[in-house]
Amino acid sequence: MTDNHKIGAFRATVAGLPRIGPRRELKRALEAYWAGKADADLLAGVSRDLRRAAWRGLLDGGVDALPTNTFSYYDQMLDTAALLGALPRRYAAIDDDRDRYFAAARGTDRLAPLEMTKWFDTNYHYLVPEIADDTDFALHPEAVLDDLALARTVAGDRSGVSLRPVIIGPATFLSLAKPAPGSADPWTRLAELVDLHAELLPKLAAAGASWVQFDEPVLATDLSAGRIDEITAAYRRLAAVADRPAIMVQSYFGDPGPALGPLAASGIDGVGLDLVAGGVPDGVDLSGLTVAAGVIDGRNVWRTDLDAAIATLHELAARSGSLAVSTSCSLLHVPYGLDGEDALDPAVREWLAFGAEKIDEVGTLARALADGPHAVAPRLAEARRAAERRSADPRVRRPEVRERVAAARAGRTGRSDAAERARVQAERLDLPALPTTTIGSFPQTPQIRRARAEYRAGRLDHDAYARVMRGHIAEVIELQSGLGLDVLVHGEPERNDMVQYFGELLDGFAITANGWVQSYGSRCVRPPILWGDVSRPAPMTVEWIGYAQSLTDRPVKGMLTGPVTILAWSFVRDDQLLAEVADQVAVAIREECADLEAAGTVIIQVDEPALRELLPLRRSEQPAYLDWAVGAFRLATSGVADATQIHTHLCYSEFGEVIEAIDGLDADVTSVEAARSGMEVLGDLAGSGFGRAVGPGVYDIHSPRVPETTEMTTLLHRALDVLPAERLWVNPDCGLKTRGEAEVRRALTNLVAAAREVRAR
Ligand code: GLN
Ligand code: ZN
Repeated sequence: MTDNHKIGAFRATVAGLPRIGPRRELKRALEAYWAGKADADLLAGVSRDLRRAAWRGLLDGGVDALPTNTFSYYDQMLDTAALLGALPRRYAAIDDDRDRYFAAARGTDRLAPLEMTKWFDTNYHYLVPEIADDTDFALHPEAVLDDLALARTVAGDRSGVSLRPVIIGPATFLSLAKPAPGSADPWTRLAELVDLHAELLPKLAAAGASWVQFDEPVLATDLSAGRIDEITAAYRRLAAVADRPAIMVQSYFGDPGPALGPLAASGIDGVGLDLVAGGVPDGVDLSGLTVAAGVIDGRNVWRTDLDAAIATLHELAARSGSLAVSTSCSLLHVPYGLDGEDALDPAVREWLAFGAEKIDEVGTLARALADGPHAVAPRLAEARRAAERRSADPRVRRPEVRERVAAARAGRTGRSDAAERARVQAERLDLPALPTTTIGSFPQTPQIRRARAEYRAGRLDHDAYARVMRGHIAEVIELQSGLGLDVLVHGEPERNDMVQYFGELLDGFAITANGWVQSYGSRCVRPPILWGDVSRPAPMTVEWIGYAQSLTDRPVKGMLTGPVTILAWSFVRDDQLLAEVADQVAVAIREECADLEAAGTVIIQVDEPALRELLPLRRSEQPAYLDWAVGAFRLATSGVADATQIHTHLCYSEFGEVIEAIDGLDADVTSVEAARSGMEVLGDLAGSGFGRAVGPGVYDIHSPRVPETTEMTTLLHRALDVLPAERLWVNPDCGLKTRGEAEVRRALTNLVAAAREVRAR
């Protein structure tokens, strides 16, 4: 081994960078490329500009170690699969590298894309690598090396700046991959992958990387002792490679627990630790290692308590060979910067740090460590003042909200048991067997989007806006009545997003102008910022649902988003237990339920698609989470009469650890995704003794394909094998917002026909 990996001491870095662009430049370039309106050169140019700008931003902020390879045209797991030659064979016939990559990401007319799922407990989606027994791993390092070369041009001759390619580590890559049908567990291929990485390392060193960062968030999950041994052996092998860069293993979204000790002793050179989600590790010898101390929160938007961070850094500095300030995880999960957020309440804005501000905090802390806190005294004083103003702001903790929550908790259990409620509801609703309904949203047409945008911009007053929305609601009601659906919806035209809509109407939330965060590929979300005690100044949905109900004799469902989902898809406060915040949101939803009920709504659906997403990564923490999550849902929904039917909707079909919690929600009807898995989900639910009504999706809304009636009757018959007819509803997998109008009309026609056919037998 040469000494080249010893020269890269550094003081300040970030674990990773966002890539969609400060003004979503990549989104626009990708969509133009996919639409055939931009060529590959234009797309590559946008990519290079974004990468250069991001590195320059780091250098200007005082960062002396640039992460590379954090840009992606779509997703970092897909990039890793491409690097390792692990794209499924079905795409091999596509000659062009970039088009092959996009085919795996998005599919083509003939080829299904890779499956997509959520990245640990975040709202980011990655593509799930598919590993077949005949997958021939082979190294394709060109993209990583090109990126490194580009970074070299930015770092130029600045002395002391090190470059560090970031690669998803083999343990995480294989743990998240799935076997192709009939193939072995991808984990059995670990040694082969490590061989490829061993081949890659000298190439990186030769191209100017003094470090390499292997991202291993899987270390924050429960791993068996055997797994930890295998992972340690893999890194021991990589550490023994000659002419390599220094190796940093980066864990995030929690602490690496029992894996840290063995890894630290494996011969690697550094570890990156998430000190926001996890603590300073006890009893592990770090004295031979560089520690990248993730004291700046990469996942949330609050200004860092710099004094506390300095204390943590000193504690670790005394124990580690060399210390660098870093972020807890990649900045992928936060917006680019506060620049331009002039519409934010200035008080709230002062409490925040987005990407650019976090980079600045990294630089500030690094200077404090190097030159002493006096060197950054004004910055520390400013942060202290902001923190003081935040905790003293009377809108942050409001006694009247806390009293209302306490009162609602005390009066929470007003409803009879589920069987009694089912009896009362059956009498009142008088629905046929296998009632048909939808999940809520109908196609969001360009006219709907335009009207919302005009209203937001102040070019449409409320009356004019309401007229447009009412027009769409009337169309959707007429469509559903004509199709013969039994329980109708208003179609949600007024909602840009099922969380943001409520964030805009509740007190305690702020909405950004440009706070976009990548969700997957070119898709971004703009999560609201929950900063203070939550209350509901006025009814939020009654106007629309009430109007819809006035047009028909059939029941129209009231549509609400549940407290857990509202938290999961917002930036949440860090000065308050999440359980407490959840109950505040729950009380607001509970009040909305009461108003809907008073206005004549007989069925209310409270969606909780994110119930599983917030599940803690460590099993030991899951029961406490499920306890408050279920408690909040019940607080939201238990204020209504027995005769008011509560529905909930979950967006997935694999329940795993949340199956008991779903029972605990105590909703009268639960709709779930089921079409793609052929109703398998019902076996799981029935097996767990779930005794309430279920609406398993019979129409996969993720695909433009319209299923035939017979496909849906087949699914319904399968459902009837495990569920009695009185407990079966007929509905699509999820909302219809992203589908075309013609498709939806045909699919729902077939859905109603399928329900009628099965009823008749
Ligand atoms: N009611 C919402 C809709 O139909 C539910 C969306 C979701 O489950 N993500 O759009
Ligand atoms: Zn859904």
